[in-house]
Amino acid sequence: MSGTVFRTRSFAPSVSIVTGGGSGIGRAIATELARRGSHVVVADLDGARAKQVADDLGERGSAAEVDVVDAEAVQALVAQTAERHGRLDIMANNAGVAIGGLLEELDERHWAKALDVNLRGVINGVSAAYPVMSAQRSGHILNTASLAGLIPAPAMLPYTTTKHAVVGLSTALRAEAASRGVRVSVLCPAFVDTPLLDEVYAAPASFGGGSSVRSRVRLMQPRFLTAELVAARAVDGLASNKAVIPVGWLAHTLWRLNRYAPPVA
Ligand code: NAD
Repeated sequence: MSGTVFRTRSFAPSVSIVTGGGSGIGRAIATELARRGSHVVVADLDGARAKQVADDLGERGSAAEVDVVDAEAVQALVAQTAERHGRLDIMANNAGVAIGGLLEELDERHWAKALDVNLRGVINGVSAAYPVMSAQRSGHILNTASLAGLIPAPAMLPYTTTKHAVVGLSTALRAEAASRGVRVSVLCPAFVDTPLLDEVYAAPASFGGGSSVRSRVRLMQPRFLTAELVAARAVDGLASNKAVIPVGWLAHTLWRLNRYAPPVA
C-alpha cells in the first residue's frame, strides 16, 4: 500500500512516548505523531534537547530526561505517563548510538555501549510498555532498528549485531503480542541525514568511520533520507500495522529480497 494513503490518519486522542526524541529521527517521529493529534512524551538522555522538542510541540508535548539503559527509569517513565494520561498507545523505542569497528579492534566497552543502548534500551522500553498495553488490550510498540538490521553494515559490527537483534526481537514478539491486542513494528531506514551520521564520520577509520566511509555511503545511497520522510513512513506504518517498515529504496529492495529469497539448503 502507498505510504500516502495513511498520511492524514489521525492519532487523536492518543498518548505516545518517543525515546531519543531530542534529535534526528526521534524528534521527527515525535513531531509527526503530535501533528496527527497524539500527546507525545519526548524522552532523551539529553533533557535540554527533549524540553526544546516538547516546547516546539506546544500543549501536545512534554519532556523527560531518561537514560534508556536504566530499566527502572524507563519503568518509571512509562508508569508516570500511564498514570498521568490514563493510557499509553504508542511506545517508540528509538534511542540509539552508532558504534562501529572490526572485531579485532573492539573491546568490551564498545560492545557494552552498543548492547546497552541499542538492544537493552529497546528491551527496557518493550518490557515497560507491554504490561500497560496488554492490560488495555491495545497499543503499538515501534522499535527503531536500521537497514543494518537487515544486512551487515561493513566495519560496523556492534551496530549491525544490535540492529539485527532489534529486528529479531520485534518480529518474534509480534505474534505473542497480537494475542494481547498489542501491535509491534520495526523501523528499518537506510541512511538518514542526522547527527548520528556525523558521529560515524568522526570516528577513526578502524571504528567504522572516516572520510572513506562518507564516500562509500554516498556511493550506496547518493541522496540521504530526511528524518521527516522517515517519520512520515513510520507513522504510516503504524496506521497500516506493518511488521517491518523499510524506508529508502535500498532498505525496501533488501527487505523484499530477504523476504522472498528461496530457503538456502
Ligand atoms: P541522533 O543522534 O540524531 O539521535 C539520537 C538521540 O538518542 C539523541 O538525542 C541522543 O541524546 C539520544 N540517546 C542516545 N543515547 C540515549 C540513551 N541511553 N537514553 C536516551 N536517549 C539516548 O540519531 P538518529 O539518526 O536520529 O538515530 C535514531 C535511531 O535511528 C537510532 O536507533 C539509530 O540507530 C537509528 N537509525 C539511524 C539512521 C541514520 O542514518 N541516521 C539510519 C537507520 C537507523
